[in-house]
Amino acid sequence: MTIKITRKIKGYNVKRPDGGAAEASAAAPTEPQAEVIQMHERLERPGVLVGATYKIKSPLFEHALYVTINDIVLNAGTPHESRRPFEIFINSKNMDHFQWIVALTRIMSAVFRKGGDVTFLVEELKAVFDPRGGYFKPGGTYMPSIVAELGLIVEQHLKSIGMIKDSEISEAQRALINEKRAAYEATLKAPGAAHDVGAGEAGGYPAGATLCPKCNTSAVVLMDGCATCLACGYSKCG
Ligand SMILES: [Zn+2]
Repeated sequence: MTIKITRKIKGYNVKRPDGGAAEASAAAPTEPQAEVIQMHERLERPGVLVGATYKIKSPLFEHALYVTINDIVLNAGTPHESRRPFEIFINSKNMDHFQWIVALTRIMSAVFRKGGDVTFLVEELKAVFDPRGGYFKPGGTYMPSIVAELGLIVEQHLKSIGMIKDSEISEAQRALINEKRAAYEATLKAPGAAHDVGAGEAGGYPAGATLCPKCNTSAVVLMDGCATCLACGYSKCG
């Protein structure tokens, strides 16, 4: 669906997640606005949707899972243009869990199409753990279940389309972590150091690094008597 703009655009509002609107210009607030299309369940699916396919390889599954999330572009070409997830599919050669996968993807797609804030799905999925035990992804991040990894993929996707603000560590923090890491590696290489240098471990974190409670990555090392995560910067000493 497209909207024809018949009058000159004199200003616009940026919709904030908290419901408030930020004035983007000094336009009079009484200026009539073109109708903005929001996500709702009666929105018809266009013939073509853009999307992305992600691969999950887990030791819990013999075959890889392919997760496709398709997006709908609302208000294309207007200041209100936004990309929202519309549907999700999971494909795999593994048919063991077929009915549950189909059920999950249908419900997730329905939630996407309802509109509103769908980001809660990420936290719900990431909190699911497999009673048979989780696994480590390449890079050393612990996944408590396949469903949790699915949550991670949805999070990645929502970040890529701008629905979740990337709370990635700032550049200054990243520099600090790199500095800490270099310092740690220097202590390992120092002559007389009794440590075992295990370079090339999962994700390149030092051997013996323990699991970080914040980012679930095996990257916590002891530095100056303080447990410090080399992946996200988490530190027990603040
Ligand atoms: Zn961490």
